[in-house]
Amino acid sequence: MESIWRKTCTIEERETLNREIQTEVAVIGAGMAGLLTAYQLKKASVHAVVLEAKRIGNGQTKNTTAKITSQHGLFCDAFIRKKGQKTAGQYVQANQKAIEEYEQIIQENNIECDFERTSSYVYSKNEKKLRNEAKAAAKLGIAASYVRHIEIPVPCAGAVRFEGQAQFHPLKFMKAIAEQLEIYENTPVRKVEGNLIQTAQGIVKADKIVFATHYPFVNFPGLYFTRMHQERSYVLALEDAGVINGMYIGDGEESYSFRRYGKYLLFGGQGHRTGENTGGKRYEMLRQKAKQFFPDAKEVAHWSAQDCITSDQVPFVGKYAKTRPGWFVATGFQKWGMTSSMVASKILCDMICGVENPYAKTFSSRRFSTEEVPQILKDGAKAVNGLSKRFFQVPEKAREELETGHGGIVKTKTGKAGVYKMEGERDCKVQSACCHLGCQVAWNPDEKTWECPCHGSRFDCHGNLLDGPAQEGIQYE
Ligand SMILES: Cc1cc2nc3c(=O)[nH]c(=O)nc-3n(C[C@H](O)[C@H](O)[C@H](O)COP(=O)(O)OP(=O)(O)OC[C@H]3O[C@@H](n4cnc5c(N)ncnc54)[C@H](O)[C@@H]3O)c2cc1C
Repeated sequence: MESIWRKTCTIEERETLNREIQTEVAVIGAGMAGLLTAYQLKKASVHAVVLEAKRIGNGQTKNTTAKITSQHGLFCDAFIRKKGQKTAGQYVQANQKAIEEYEQIIQENNIECDFERTSSYVYSKNEKKLRNEAKAAAKLGIAASYVRHIEIPVPCAGAVRFEGQAQFHPLKFMKAIAEQLEIYENTPVRKVEGNLIQTAQGIVKADKIVFATHYPFVNFPGLYFTRMHQERSYVLALEDAGVINGMYIGDGEESYSFRRYGKYLLFGGQGHRTGENTGGKRYEMLRQKAKQFFPDAKEVAHWSAQDCITSDQVPFVGKYAKTRPGWFVATGFQKWGMTSSMVASKILCDMICGVENPYAKTFSSRRFSTEEVPQILKDGAKAVNGLSKRFFQVPEKAREELETGHGGIVKTKTGKAGVYKMEGERDCKVQSACCHLGCQVAWNPDEKTWECPCHGSRFDCHGNLLDGPAQEGIQYE
């Protein structure tokens, strides 16, 4: 189902690139990160073109909840302890500045995108944790405080409030920005070699290349697939849920997200690692919670999205790899891609223009720390598990044992396949291995999609590509 943003904003279609062009910078991906980067470059008088596989904003950004906030969970206290006050301060200040930058762009360009200032809150049952977090955030220069009572009906010991945060309609914002940019839609990049980009029907020669593709799809060099995984979560848009002024998210388990958009309340949760929802019922469980919190509310839309998670909870922004000096990347936004995209766009623009950026080191894509090791090992173990399932796991079910309306990996004459058994129609059959790095895909009954548990690529029930890092489908030949 379409998000509330898609239902309320149409962006005019752009031409497909079908010739050879030359540019100073090619930005791959027209999500929030790609468009903002191209926008900053334009402001710095650098010629940039944007190459988009599908349509503008049609990646994860169309399904965000679009809170623009520097409050990325209860993280300040833990960050100071892990990374030190200087780095923690840089992270928070860069994100706080991103809010001001949005407001400035919106004002300068008279963009009607329902931008409004409000406070953000993280609620928790642990009062001590909340009080420590409020103190830590204040130490980092944020107008933060502990509040005992909040306006949403969740059981908690209060919340940490950040003042001066914001929310908006992401696609209305992107539509206005896009009008100023040279963008080619339905132009998937197939190959990048040096400064040469091959798209489905054209060629781009670019002095510099920015990968703003949500998950970077060139595996070597870069090795981003060893440093990130993806997590998916679900959103309901509710009518008649009462008025909520702030933006809220919970800490730890039972974490739900709340924000208002006009007469709607956006209520999110039920997150999981992509590829690990074989049991389904995520929407159902979210609906049950919605009923409990807002008994009179009616659902008007539902959707889901996913984001890339790094081991140390900081995005990767900067050079793609040591051996590719002209390539840049912005990824790993941890479900905080509105401010992170803005931060990334400023850093990348400065790097490309040879200007020093005070936040570049904190977000550097080439940073490595021992802190990453446990998560890298965990993600590595998941990848090995996904691969071994493909080679060694014999499917438990024959096709006949699948319930109608369900999907699963089943035995075939030559091995195995993913099968979605549809009511009164022929089965939908797909390859059981993801075409990215070969892990066995798993069925997500809530979305009726195939998902890769290793790196988070997604495919529809026919095997058509929905989300990367895979760049092709898994159709059954
Ligand atoms: C449920 C949920 C709620 C969220 N809510 C918030 C929130 O309230 N606030 C917040 O800050 N963040 C939030 N986020 C995170 C935020 O939505 C994302 O981080 C952000 O939208 C990612 O933007 P992007 O530009 O990196 O990626 P995308 O929007 O996915 O854009 C990437 C683009 O690259 C294109 N592409 C990929 N491969 C190619 C190729 N080979 N050639 C050409 N183009 C290509 C894709 O088609 C796509 O359009 C949320 C995330 C989730 C999952």
